[in-house]
Amino acid sequence: MSFLREYVDEKMLQTALDKTVSSLCPVCLKVVSARFFSEDGQVFMEKRCDEHGIFRELYWSDLSLFNRFNKYLCDGQGLKSPGASASTKGCPFDCGLCQNHLTPTLLGNIDLTNRCDMHCPICFADAGGRVFEPDMDQIRAMMQNLRNELPVPCPAVQFSGGEPTVRDDLPDIVAMAREMGFAQIQIATNGLRLAASVDLCRSLEKSGLNTVYLQFDGVTAQPYQAARGRDLFPIKLKALENFRKSGLTSVVLVPTLAKGVNDHQVGDIVRFASKSLDIIKGINFQPISFAGRTEAAMRAEKRITIPDLLALLEEQTDGEITRDDFYPVPFVVPVSRLLAAKLGSPTPAFTVHPCCGAATYVYSLDGRLIPITRFIDVEGLMEMVNNEAENYDGSRLGGLKLTGKILRELPKFVDEARIPGDLKVTRMLFGVFRNGTRDALTEFHSKSLFLGAMHFQDLYNMDLERLKRCGIHYATPDGRIIPFCSYNTLHRKGVEDKFSVPLHRHV
Ligand code: SF4
Ligand code: SF4
Repeated sequence: MSFLREYVDEKMLQTALDKTVSSLCPVCLKVVSARFFSEDGQVFMEKRCDEHGIFRELYWSDLSLFNRFNKYLCDGQGLKSPGASASTKGCPFDCGLCQNHLTPTLLGNIDLTNRCDMHCPICFADAGGRVFEPDMDQIRAMMQNLRNELPVPCPAVQFSGGEPTVRDDLPDIVAMAREMGFAQIQIATNGLRLAASVDLCRSLEKSGLNTVYLQFDGVTAQPYQAARGRDLFPIKLKALENFRKSGLTSVVLVPTLAKGVNDHQVGDIVRFASKSLDIIKGINFQPISFAGRTEAAMRAEKRITIPDLLALLEEQTDGEITRDDFYPVPFVVPVSRLLAAKLGSPTPAFTVHPCCGAATYVYSLDGRLIPITRFIDVEGLMEMVNNEAENYDGSRLGGLKLTGKILRELPKFVDEARIPGDLKVTRMLFGVFRNGTRDALTEFHSKSLFLGAMHFQDLYNMDLERLKRCGIHYATPDGRIIPFCSYNTLHRKGVEDKFSVPLHRHV
């Protein structure tokens, strides 16, 4: 029995494709309108600038997946922060966050420096002779800004760069984030310094670091040589060894995917991770996005979309993991709705655009990878949770009835015959919905792997409808909070120019 349903629905397809959205001219950055169209089963974005002509870009390589994912488009709760700026110049020049933004910050990024101990051709940050390095007071103010957000304070912070570990005060910064109430504290790192010093790993663990996002392009020398100019694979292995020794047991591998660089290794990366589930909890594939202006030939040569990645995973895992096992980020919004209904107050909801990312969980048993969609009817479950959350009247008695009803219904969504090994799936779901605790998932997490993808936007495929739903934001020293894809395409330079100093003045 398969729980996967046929999604292709002509009406939805028309709606998603016929839509006109706003985008940017990649040359003059003026707002222009763009349309989606399909050709040979792929989805393209086409836009026209009066001055610079027509631009066509591959957007999604699988029309039916585009259609299936777009079913989950939803509006977030918006911002209620007193600091949300008025819309004056129009999106994306009002970042931010402005009053029109739909998703509050789910993950706040803070660049701690633009210095880096590597100089990779595909990196966003570029020192350019100046140092951008906010001081402790500025970092505290940026974090406070994230925590002040309404209706929900930002729950998670990621320190990035440049390379955040080049700062000797990183453990103090992590400790400060902990003290300020962030539930999830992460760093995004190339792992060089962490591979060189187990003491640094220990110190970060002691300071309260939850998760290491480790740049990880593949499982041989070649992808590193192609993307980073040297073989870093032994260094990644050493870093992982140090994480294990120091108790940093939540690692997410982050491969930046580009055609011809590492697209042949996605299956191997998953298999590699599935052998170290004691410390590796997930993989977040990031298809390449292009910084600034990039020639069409280069984009065509290297561009990889989320559907391309899912097709590669399917191929390279011999169909153990398929594209149908993945769902877009807002698929899990009903869980937040339920939680908010029961608590009587807003909770973070993953209302980002469906084309931004895809995710699933795979369970690992005796060398096999089993996506959870094979034994849990995740769609049916989410539908039921959504209906119950919508019908909840807010009373205490209603809350008890709601929990009782959900617990009674849960077994319907589990296919007992297909549960791998002795995993107690129904008991696990009971634990989650009855107590809402993470403990209920401990057994599952110890043998499973999160597989996610996020395709950051660039000037060629930018969709401003998508941007205003972004939940991953940068906090900047001027008190703004700027959506990730807006920051990296438009605002980064201005912020860094304003707050950086020439290299010789940096102490
Ligand atoms: S991206 Fe969001 S914050 Fe920025 S201008 Fe658009 S709606 Fe406002
Ligand atoms: S960072 Fe970019 S790709 Fe990710 S949610 Fe925001 S807009 Fe979407």
